[in-house]
Amino acid sequence: MKDQKAPSPLPLWGSASFSPPRQLKALPQRGSGEGAFSAVLFDMDGVLFDSMPNHAYAWSHAMTQFGLEMTAYEAYLHEGRTGSGTINILAQRYWGRDATDEEIERIYAAKAEVFNACPEAKPMPGAFEALTAAKELGCKVVLVTGSAQASLLQRLEEHYPGFFREELMVTGFDVKRGKPDPEPYLMGLQKAGVKAEEAIVVENAPLGVESAKGAGIFTIAANTGPLEDSILKDAGADIVVPGMKDVAMLLRSMQK
Ligand code: CA
Repeated sequence: MKDQKAPSPLPLWGSASFSPPRQLKALPQRGSGEGAFSAVLFDMDGVLFDSMPNHAYAWSHAMTQFGLEMTAYEAYLHEGRTGSGTINILAQRYWGRDATDEEIERIYAAKAEVFNACPEAKPMPGAFEALTAAKELGCKVVLVTGSAQASLLQRLEEHYPGFFREELMVTGFDVKRGKPDPEPYLMGLQKAGVKAEEAIVVENAPLGVESAKGAGIFTIAANTGPLEDSILKDAGADIVVPGMKDVAMLLRSMQK
């Protein structure tokens, strides 16, 4: 687990002396010509909303009811995986077999019950600023989430008015395979009408980073949870920053 007291190895961004990390040089330059950077694809849980503590708590609590032990930390490691995929990892470990469909249904229902009793997740600090910076760069703002809630667009509109359009959203309703498969991000590129090299992804989870990198997209990881930066780096992230405020700073630093 990451030591919350350890000083960040990153510079104190936001100060006047801020300069973009060298990795930014790998980014395509913004412009109107070939290779222009024209879309930013945002994940939702742990990026736009601080919802991961609720998910992690709900997973951990629900699993315990069935004799399966899952720490909140492990829930973060599996973030983005389908419910059945997550349950089967634990079932294999503790029972030596996959869970039956009925068991999956019951555990997932228990998780949903705990999750729904949690207070509503707040917008992630810095996310509004990051979205604003993406717009100011002239980029399309695209949502790529595994979540499949009917009220998703209203909730986004409530907290981030004017940023998201239904035709530029990829949700759990759209994809067959989901993260870590590249499918959701490939679909995001398709909906935005841009090539991989013209886009940037903002993710927080290792499996999300894997998905984005599988789609060939430059990926900024905002490490908003308890995982070590190295886990996101190993998943393929091009840049790892501590939070969405830093993502906003990065995007702003690209404005010319
Ligand atoms: Ca996420």
